[in-house]
Amino acid sequence: MTVPAAIRELLACPRCHGQLTDERGGESLLCPACALRFPVRDGIPVMLLDQAERVII
Ligand SMILES: [Zn+2]
Repeated sequence: MTVPAAIRELLACPRCHGQLTDERGGESLLCPACALRFPVRDGIPVMLLDQAERVII
């Protein structure tokens, strides 16, 4: 289940307010600037820094 387009358009990184990249077909959202991955649970993006996963880009 992916994020509905209307909600997806409103999303920005909570840290830098930059644009997010869809990953794994919308199963997670990546901020390339912060190297943080935000989970999407049941189609609901979890835009919390303490839930974000650090990634190596
Ligand atoms: Zn960011």
